[in-house]
Amino acid sequence: MGNEQPEIQLQGLHYLTGDPIRITIHQGRIDSIAPLNNLEVEQQQLPWVGPGFVDLQINGYAGLDFNSLPITPHTTSRMTRALWKEGVTRFFPTVITNSEEAIKEAVAAIAQECEEDPVAGDAVAGIHLEGPFISPEDGARGAHSRLYVRPPDWTLFQRWQESARGRIKIVTVSPEWAEAEDFIRRCTDAGVLVSIGHTAAAPDQIARAVAAGASMSTHFGNGAHPVLPRHPNYLWEQLAAEQLWTSVIADGFHLPDAVLKVVMKVKGEKALLVSDAVMFSGMQAGTYESHIGGKVVLTPEGRLHLAEQPQLLAGSVQMLLKGVSHLVRRGLCSLGEAWEMASIRPARRLSLPVSSGLQPGAPADVLLLDWRDGEVAEPRIAGVYKNGVSVFP
Ligand SMILES: [Zn+2]
Repeated sequence: MGNEQPEIQLQGLHYLTGDPIRITIHQGRIDSIAPLNNLEVEQQQLPWVGPGFVDLQINGYAGLDFNSLPITPHTTSRMTRALWKEGVTRFFPTVITNSEEAIKEAVAAIAQECEEDPVAGDAVAGIHLEGPFISPEDGARGAHSRLYVRPPDWTLFQRWQESARGRIKIVTVSPEWAEAEDFIRRCTDAGVLVSIGHTAAAPDQIARAVAAGASMSTHFGNGAHPVLPRHPNYLWEQLAAEQLWTSVIADGFHLPDAVLKVVMKVKGEKALLVSDAVMFSGMQAGTYESHIGGKVVLTPEGRLHLAEQPQLLAGSVQMLLKGVSHLVRRGLCSLGEAWEMASIRPARRLSLPVSSGLQPGAPADVLLLDWRDGEVAEPRIAGVYKNGVSVFP
């Protein structure tokens, strides 16, 4: 069977500069990028064009879930394709705190699908294991089940990694455990990114975790105590640690704009967006039964919280595009910067080939986005190309 793909040409406004460009795609890669002349531009309303979104933390979407066991067959394959319409072209299925057997089953199922379905295998850039080596404390633990929270255990992690066929690339850990430093060092040596999250760690424990190789903060400012000593505390310590990249949920519910602004100012190119979307994303408002802490409520505004404790969020139902639009609407950054926070920055942190973005030679994971002042109020995904193939609409 021939694999020769026809050459594709896309026209749009460069997501960083706003300049009209023509992108030529050949054999799944960006071949060239050239400016459009004025005559060509006037003939049409051009969409924005930029790199596909990369989501480092996604638990589920539209009823599909990586954490409800037994995992429904084809969850990873279906998720891969469902996420195209959200502009997500690479992602990290996220498996959260659970029993040893449950985590094993979840990561094994994802890995198996990645091997059986090359499309999923390409889109899934790795598995994110969020827990169970996190804080047992209320608030810090967030919606994770206390029952299964445990100290970091390298032998146990290796068993999961074996079940995942080496696909666990990110692990979220709290450095408050005595075992954390050694665990972080071993993960880092093995090429697994350690992210600090769901933590009640003392500032010196954060500092030691960073020295041991921890290099990111998981949804900074969430999975945290409602009340903290003003200083010192684990938030300041992570903000001040220059080695730490910082992921934030910018859906308008998880963090006030002031926190987003400070994170972006302090972290610069190391600030990035995650969705942390759960299976209720894309579903109707209502009360649902969740495997994490019983009933959850999805409000008509799109906020998901624990039914028993409305002040505690139970993950997000907004995808990366919403985060991009929130940052831009609130005047926190330009479209170009927000777009990079949702695409090449996460890709760069994980050293993915798509981190080069719109450059000749890069994999052609490309989005077209409709968003014009006064005309198109909410940004809308107008087209998605995955390795140079049109996959949406
Ligand atoms: Zn979390």
